[in-house]
Amino acid sequence: MIILIKQGAEKSQVDNLINWLKAHNIDPHISVGSHETLIGCVGDVAHLDIDLVSALDVVASVQRVGDPYKAANRKFHPDDSIIDCGGQLIGGGHFQVIAGPCSVESEEQIIEVAKAVKAAGATLLRGGAFKPRTSPYSFQGLGVEGLKMLVAAKKETGLPIVTELMNFSQFEYFNDVDVIQIGARNMQNFDILKEVGHNTQKPILLKRGLSSTLQELLMSAEYIMASGNPNVILCERGIRTFETATRNTIDLSVVPLLHQFSHLPVVVDPSHATGVARLVHPVAVAATAIGADGLIIEVHNDPPKAKCDGAQSQTPQMFAETMKAIKAVRPYACR
Ligand code: PEP
Ligand code: MN
Repeated sequence: MIILIKQGAEKSQVDNLINWLKAHNIDPHISVGSHETLIGCVGDVAHLDIDLVSALDVVASVQRVGDPYKAANRKFHPDDSIIDCGGQLIGGGHFQVIAGPCSVESEEQIIEVAKAVKAAGATLLRGGAFKPRTSPYSFQGLGVEGLKMLVAAKKETGLPIVTELMNFSQFEYFNDVDVIQIGARNMQNFDILKEVGHNTQKPILLKRGLSSTLQELLMSAEYIMASGNPNVILCERGIRTFETATRNTIDLSVVPLLHQFSHLPVVVDPSHATGVARLVHPVAVAATAIGADGLIIEVHNDPPKAKCDGAQSQTPQMFAETMKAIKAVRPYACR
């Protein structure tokens, strides 16, 4: 962090600032030029309130030169993290496809979809039991019963399961869950991030918030990691823009950017990113080509009858075609 001192500042004010920095375990390096005085701050500045420093009378401006995230930062962990998701590795060259319905609707439905996506090449099964819906009148998911059905599909197919935790009170039912999804709407629910950091080592699939920057996504990953769980998978699922032709706007350039900033695996969700089943295939292929470590795709046995997100759900036949294209593109993927 570099602090630029206001011109004409009193020496006593600058000394007060230096003492204040030292009291916060910062080693200040002062350079006095003919026009400007700069203070270079060495030490753990993550704990400093940069807005507070900027607001001090004596300060003209403050520039952060380091990143506010440490555990998620590639600078301190140059090798890709490889995360074990119920026996399926993801990251560092390991690529996985998570597929299944938006919501678990019945045991027959989830088992039928699980078998179909497995046959097409999916390596993990998704299915929501606790659903974050925009309307309180929409289907809210089957809850604990839905989780049991998901576990039955895991037993039937051997596919590890991925499902969303909306509230930490649900965690006691998650024993057989392999990957815990923290949804876009909860990306900045700092309490739940700390709780999945403290209480489990299970992989956390952390979805980017609807209007979150990459730095905010990485800071949310940092919450989980700083609380004790290093197994975080980042997920780009489209962001809210002025465009209305798609449900969200897919931001594929974040895949190489996140790989530059962080060692954590990056998964892309082309279903929520587009909201349109026909667009899932091309976006999935593009995400694979740009170097994603995995995909999470919604597949339903009968999309027009789906209780949630039918418009963006692929049929098993569409998914099988997408899997073929993904496999063809994988050897040419960037990185
Ligand atoms: C989901 O995966 O079904 C979901 C609700 O995703 P998101 O949090 O990205 O909207
Ligand atoms: Mn969905």
